[in-house]
Amino acid sequence: MKQYTYIMVKPDGVEAGLVREIAKRIKDAGLEIVQFDVQKLTGEVLDEHYAHVKDRDFYPEMKAFMLSNFVVPMIVYGENAVAKMRELMGPTNSNEAAPGTIRGDYGDKEVINKNVIHGADSPENAIIEIERFFKIKLEQPK
Ligand code: ATP
Ligand code: MG
Repeated sequence: MKQYTYIMVKPDGVEAGLVREIAKRIKDAGLEIVQFDVQKLTGEVLDEHYAHVKDRDFYPEMKAFMLSNFVVPMIVYGENAVAKMRELMGPTNSNEAAPGTIRGDYGDKEVINKNVIHGADSPENAIIEIERFFKIKLEQPK
């Protein structure tokens, strides 16, 4: 089933010049970047996006990192896009991410939050996040 997902290259990925490499991996996985942007986030939008980790002790450091430079939000579309992107990314902790995954190849092995890329964790959240960052109301194909 084709679907949309929401992807965001984090400041460490942007600073390391990885946007082109990540776009290539997305294309090689048979997925399509249908829209992208370059944004400097606000604390407000981050608190909303990371509401599920907002009370964790690592959040202040992670928030400062996410506000430290530009991010590159993307809308990605294709067969099983949500799961396929999570596979391409690897697990949250880059230490546990296999070589060949984006986080395994480029994530910071000491600072967990510097893990290069965000990907929505469900088709429903993808739609919410696309609206949050692109102000576009999409629907997943039926
Ligand atoms: P993301 O939502 O960024 O794609 P994820 O879904 O793999 O990552 P979540 O559990 O949603 O992981 O956590 C959101 C983000 O919070 C992670 O990407 C990471 O930057 C940060 N994070 C999560 N757990 C930790 C931790 N134990 N220490 C530091 N940062 C963490
Ligand atoms: Mg998540």
